[in-house]
Amino acid sequence: MARIFFDHISTSPLDPRVFEAMRPYFLEVYGNPSSHIHDQGQAALKAVDAARAEVASLLNAGPGEIVFTSGATESNNLAVKGAAEAAGRKGGHIVVSDVEHFSVLNALIPLRNRGVEVTTVPVDSDGKVDPGDVAGAIRSDTMLVSVMQANSEIGTIQPVAEIGRIARERGVLFHTDATASAGHIPLDVRTIGADLVTLSAHNFYGPKGAGALFVREGVALVSQIDGGFQERGFRAGTENVPGIVGMGAAAGIAKREMGEWDFRLRRLGKRLWEGIAASVDHLHFTGHPSDRLPGHVSFWVEYAEGESLLLFLNVNGIMAASGSACSSNLRGHDEEDLVASPVLRAIGVPSDICTGSITFSLGKGNTEAEVDEVVSVLPGIVKRLWEMSPTYLDYQKQKAQGGA
Ligand code: PMP
Repeated sequence: MARIFFDHISTSPLDPRVFEAMRPYFLEVYGNPSSHIHDQGQAALKAVDAARAEVASLLNAGPGEIVFTSGATESNNLAVKGAAEAAGRKGGHIVVSDVEHFSVLNALIPLRNRGVEVTTVPVDSDGKVDPGDVAGAIRSDTMLVSVMQANSEIGTIQPVAEIGRIARERGVLFHTDATASAGHIPLDVRTIGADLVTLSAHNFYGPKGAGALFVREGVALVSQIDGGFQERGFRAGTENVPGIVGMGAAAGIAKREMGEWDFRLRRLGKRLWEGIAASVDHLHFTGHPSDRLPGHVSFWVEYAEGESLLLFLNVNGIMAASGSACSSNLRGHDEEDLVASPVLRAIGVPSDICTGSITFSLGKGNTEAEVDEVVSVLPGIVKRLWEMSPTYLDYQKQKAQGGA
């Protein structure tokens, strides 16, 4: 049975060219970039600097504005906590959107415990933030606005340039989490007026364990890892040289090939979207219809539970994701979060059917034949789930009696 990977939003396969670029940095160049008096350290430092320039170029940033981290979670923690602590005042205020990743939302918990107030701006039914709401939420003590560039679960791209302009006009730092979007859609830190941008290599065909935070020149941050003075004091610890080299290679490839990927993935995404819209009843697409990540198709099906859909898809060789339905490890959130995806709830999906979301996220290696296979298999899976669903059977009974 063919295996179809439609879960690139959770991670992407390493590009073989990236692997080849990394290979020498496991075996031949093993030096520590901080110990660069000798050749080994020099070679490692040179490789890290070259990767820094490539990552910077993907964002139109300066190489001196890139801080390498272990990934998006660390970058988001550094951005949010680091900026709040650097503001150095008691209390203070942060504005975030209702659909941020837990690595932003949960990073706010210790800050709240220290007296920082947080305003969460809502999103509309397409998952979009209204920049006017951000403007309205900013106060005289606001230190930071954090709104992601695109949402993993529903694919919606946010109006970050407008939000960045508002933040700049009001003298507030602007952070955007570009984990889901970097390497896939254009991201120019100058155009969007960002002060802080989170990136993750494994989301654009690079290695896991490598990420970066763009820190605009002059922005103060308090390091969240105490130790040596690597990464200009923003992030202590010996650099993950092979990972960083891989991130640089992946950034270079993404910059060169993004346009081509975008064209192909939008076409494949449309084929998938149209195919399932025509073949599955009671299906609701989520996210913005056009301002969305290429190759990202997300939806929920009435009376069909998301996790069950995923399991049946996997049995049929199709790998996808379910809108973070059972986030049972949430800290500091209320009971309801244990069953409902916060993102789906934020866009107003009724909570009794909130567990039904599926995210298909396509990658550069996917084909039309794979899309057609998914379109042909999905209706049968949904039908089987309906046959097992008491709520669907009730609905059918009501319909037969003319009540639905
Ligand atoms: N931000 C966003 C928008 C994400 O989707 C994710 C998860 N892929 C993260 C941050 C955290 O990424 P990671 O688990 O790779 O650190």
